[in-house]
Amino acid sequence: MYYNDDTIIYFNNKFVRAADATGNVYSQSLHYGYAVFEGIRAYKTNNGVKIFKAVEHFERMKFSCEAVGIPYPYETQELIDISYAVLEKNNFTDAYIRPLVTCTPNMQLTKGKSSELLIAAWEWGAYLGHQLLRLVTSSVRRPNPGAFKIEAKVSGHYVNSIMASQEAKDLGYDEALLLDNKGFIAEGPGANIFIERNGVLYTPQRGNILPGITRATIIEICQELGIQVVETQLTPEEVKGADGAFFCGTAAEVIGIASLDDVPFTFAWEKTLGAVLQKAYKDKVLERETKTALVA
Ligand code: PMP
Repeated sequence: MYYNDDTIIYFNNKFVRAADATGNVYSQSLHYGYAVFEGIRAYKTNNGVKIFKAVEHFERMKFSCEAVGIPYPYETQELIDISYAVLEKNNFTDAYIRPLVTCTPNMQLTKGKSSELLIAAWEWGAYLGHQLLRLVTSSVRRPNPGAFKIEAKVSGHYVNSIMASQEAKDLGYDEALLLDNKGFIAEGPGANIFIERNGVLYTPQRGNILPGITRATIIEICQELGIQVVETQLTPEEVKGADGAFFCGTAAEVIGIASLDDVPFTFAWEKTLGAVLQKAYKDKVLERETKTALVA
């Protein structure tokens, strides 16, 4: 469950019990998916509880609201302080933080008149397993970037993700891989993808994806470790049977992929760059001193 009787959230300018919070049924957000959200992780690090890439997440929330005309009268630092307060009031250390900007009542198809802010959090235990995902190419394409602000994290966009993810599960797979409207590889329903071939990582270029903060962090780590990353267009044929692949996202962190459409990636996960990056990412979020070395 996401909350219990004691859970405290920030909603409508104050800290309240989640169980007492109420929304308006004439909200534009409820009717039209006209809202913006973020997904952020807090970790119990060696240096105390830290919200990972908090500035980047709240800056993206601002960008997303501006992209679709949702009023955004908030300061990044103010939202970071509120997020830490939500964690503290609930005694959370490892947690997922969910900020959501919704619009007030307006049934017209005009931009938001004013907005409301929710910051909720729930506990998120450390992921220990080394489960690998079996992916299926989705029949659901990512939204046309000419029709949506694809780089904005808008609630309504996630109907697309829900359809793709559920289809994959109904077919007996762990997760979906969505193509863009031209048939190139785009991303997962809630994560970006990297493919390994001959010691180089490839990832879809921007334009048809949500350019994840984790994706940027992985590229940053690759620079530190001297791993080459190429941002390009990838066809499903180029991906199938590659040496390795992984998804990355705030919630998923770095998670290995076993196969796409039942075609396995050829290297054992432990031998892939993904496994190296999985550890390096963990070191970074937990502020661990040990630097992952790339063994040539
Ligand atoms: N793509 C989509 C569609 C997502 O929903 C997410 C999760 N926010 C990502 C990629 C990964 O983004 P991030 O690394 O910023 O969590």
